[in-house]
Amino acid sequence: MIARRRTRQISLGDDRTGIVAIGGDAPVVVQTMIAGYTYDIDTCVAEINRLAAAGAEVVRVAVPQRKDTEALGEILNQTSVPIVADVHFHYQRALEAIEAGVHKVRLNPGNISDREQVNAVIDACRDAHIPIRVGVNEGSIIERKDKQQRLKELGRFFSEHRHGHLLAIMIAKLEEYVDIFDARDFHDICISAKSMDASLVIDVYTEISKRFDYPLHLGVTHAGPKETGAIRSVVALGTLLANGIGDTIRISYASDSVHEVEDALEMLYCLGLRQRVGAELIACPTCGRIQVDLFTLVQEVRKKLADEIELPIKVAVMGCVVNGPGEAEGADVAVFAGNRRGIIYVQGERVANVPEHEILDRLLQECRVFQDRVARGEAKLGEKTVQIVPPDPIGELGSGFEKIAAGAVEQVTVGRT
Ligand code: SF4
Repeated sequence: MIARRRTRQISLGDDRTGIVAIGGDAPVVVQTMIAGYTYDIDTCVAEINRLAAAGAEVVRVAVPQRKDTEALGEILNQTSVPIVADVHFHYQRALEAIEAGVHKVRLNPGNISDREQVNAVIDACRDAHIPIRVGVNEGSIIERKDKQQRLKELGRFFSEHRHGHLLAIMIAKLEEYVDIFDARDFHDICISAKSMDASLVIDVYTEISKRFDYPLHLGVTHAGPKETGAIRSVVALGTLLANGIGDTIRISYASDSVHEVEDALEMLYCLGLRQRVGAELIACPTCGRIQVDLFTLVQEVRKKLADEIELPIKVAVMGCVVNGPGEAEGADVAVFAGNRRGIIYVQGERVANVPEHEILDRLLQECRVFQDRVARGEAKLGEKTVQIVPPDPIGELGSGFEKIAAGAVEQVTVGRT
């Protein structure tokens, strides 16, 4: 059980979207950002709704142009999650977005040079009762006009030390920005300090969590495509969350934003910070014992489970009966493949032995039946683990890697019922 650091709480949303709380005792909130143009209303609405269906609880949109803020009213009418307007450089865009009814504003005071303009946004948010995210990005902490200084900082960053100097600058900048809001007696804020360097993200959030009690928005910026960005993001955000730091997260990939939401949720499930929604799939990596096309099967099972199963049923797809049973322990529904067949178990009971081409349909059928039994109160999730009585030819040898290691059996094929 992770003991989360207690922060102040902010909230956003309205009667139509519901209220989403961030910080305090609220669960960690998953948010994301659309990749398309905000002014393209139909595409924008479709993307927001697709992200919300995937589990995003807050969605951010960029509003660099007047035509973007003009589109917000219609976008808000057609969506049902709180929308955040992402503002850079143009404070008027923030004022227009607030006027349109947006639920939160993301602001980097570092790229709005006139303090009165920042104050105008603060006052408008106060009047509209909406919060602001105050964001510092590693890439924008040195004003753009001071490029020589920026180059020096980067040079130090990449050569002399890992990130000590940048860390100091990011914290100093954040303190400077927060002072602007404190001076205006506006405390309805959350804060962020992002970098593309995972270890810097860990260090900077660890430090600012000691300095501020505002809720923290965690993120790794410019994380890259999902294939590599997932590791960069999970290392940084997972470490912080495991230490109780972080109130809302955004994983950012140069890929479809749905992956951001799916991976953020999976990370929270793995950390025990959210109650899982939908099935949990475990699968073996395969090895030289595999006798079916397990990778294809796993992907098909994953998609079908996402579409059809709402309860957190634990499903195991294992390549054989040799090591699989031990690894599938705790699964409610499991299939052990071999010899172009699959043996399916439901909470320890063998229910089917089917040829490879029937595994997917039969496994899903058993998952649906089991889900219905749970819904009717006839079965409980995780009540019985998969207690495998190994099929022939293992027989009384049992299963498990140690048996193989002991030379008791070299290769196993699944027998027929
Ligand atoms: S379950 Fe079987 S096929 Fe899969 S990795 Fe383990 S031993 Fe190999």
